[in-house]
Amino acid sequence: MELCESPIRELHRRRLAREISTAEIARSVLGRIERYETRVRAYITLTTGDVLSGAEAADAKLARGEPVGPIEGMPLALKDIFITAGIETTCGSRILKGFKPPYDATVVERLKAHGLNLLGKTNLDEFAMGSSTESSAYGPTRNPWAFDRVPGGSSGGSAAAVAAGEALAALGTDTGGSIRQPAAFTSLVGLKPTYGRVSRYGMIAYASSLDQGGPITRDIGDAALLLNVISGHDPRDSTSARRPVPDFTRYLQGDLQGVRVGLVREIGQAGQLDPEVGLALQANLETLRALGAEPVEISMPSIEYAVAVYYILAPCEASSNLGRYDGIRLGPRAAGASDLRELYRKTRQQGFGAEVKRRIMLGTFALSAGYYDAYYVRAMKIRELLREDFRRAFARVELIAGPTSPIPAFRLGEKLDDPLQMYLTDAYTLPANLAGLPAVSIPGGFTRAGLPLGLQLMADHFREDRLIQAAWAFEQATDHHRRRPALS
Ligand code: GLN
Repeated sequence: MELCESPIRELHRRRLAREISTAEIARSVLGRIERYETRVRAYITLTTGDVLSGAEAADAKLARGEPVGPIEGMPLALKDIFITAGIETTCGSRILKGFKPPYDATVVERLKAHGLNLLGKTNLDEFAMGSSTESSAYGPTRNPWAFDRVPGGSSGGSAAAVAAGEALAALGTDTGGSIRQPAAFTSLVGLKPTYGRVSRYGMIAYASSLDQGGPITRDIGDAALLLNVISGHDPRDSTSARRPVPDFTRYLQGDLQGVRVGLVREIGQAGQLDPEVGLALQANLETLRALGAEPVEISMPSIEYAVAVYYILAPCEASSNLGRYDGIRLGPRAAGASDLRELYRKTRQQGFGAEVKRRIMLGTFALSAGYYDAYYVRAMKIRELLREDFRRAFARVELIAGPTSPIPAFRLGEKLDDPLQMYLTDAYTLPANLAGLPAVSIPGGFTRAGLPLGLQLMADHFREDRLIQAAWAFEQATDHHRRRPALS
């Protein structure tokens, strides 16, 4: 296995043992970018110019006998939704083309304090609205496991970069599944933390009550490592939780003896579950059982409304958040407008893509006088019922398990003309966001054609420790996470 395909923790151990250098790791990753990026197109902006010297600086510290942290000098990527001081940040939109933020997002600040060596900003669906990375204004990203398929979305660029060895790990964001579903489509680990665990300051807002940043990595150990760095209270984000952050790597041990794992009865009934996804799920449940877990059937009646509720609430919040893109304050301004209204209209007409316009119109409609009670208020009530279902479930079980996505990675273009079909693929990931719960997708096998499948685990608020421990035990018993794409 090449260095660029190895987990960070393993690479760190090997460099501390002087078997390899950080510079060799960086060269391996940069070589991958050189060979494959024109096909994968994981990045919107590459900042690779300083990556080798960043790695050499870590090696120099090692040579002097100074302490070097596990991510110091390791080449990483960031979804282009995290603002980065002086580095163009587009959020996948034309309306932010050329925008160079004056400061860093909190998570970027934290990564820098730990020696971030940034490769670049990865592609995403425009404003994170999508499940395939095809709505980006900068063109689609391809799935390294099958170049004619999507890498998932919206954090598809981050997932594709890691899967192709074009980054050791990356950060994504998850409003309705955008960390977990791309991880599932590319055989990676994607962890969405509890709402409030990770600061949203400097993370461009899509739907503020749902958005949460988190890691996309090769294994759960690297996810725990990055979660340690990015978690914690931030006074600049009023929804950030005042909760102590444990050392998440402490939970990389143990088995699942006596752990009750909930299986949601209603999920199998949703109808669109691909038979191969169903088979893999059965095999994964067997593995969990062999590790000592006790499966418990649970009922969550309101889960069937998750898609409807999410696709009301997320557009409502988006329609408000995106009001700031007016051509006055940020990004390009349309030329030739004769008054202010026309300036707004022209800028937005040229700057936003079709999916973003659709969401703004849906949200504006659902929030308008006369429809507010019928849509927004009703959706908020069902959101509360869903939270109640989860409260009841987590009184009985420690974890809930199921497939991350009802289908494996689909072909480029396959669902572009049918937004509803695209929305329905999010059915299993949306509930965790609506309830603010932590959830992880881990490699859970492959279809006969070799397409990756994800196993999703959910836990109660702030119980990332349980996700990490279970994922660790699962990884010890399987080798899905050790397979790499052939890239041909
Ligand atoms: N696919 C969902 C949407 O389009 C979720 C996206 C996300 O998590 N950012 O809204």
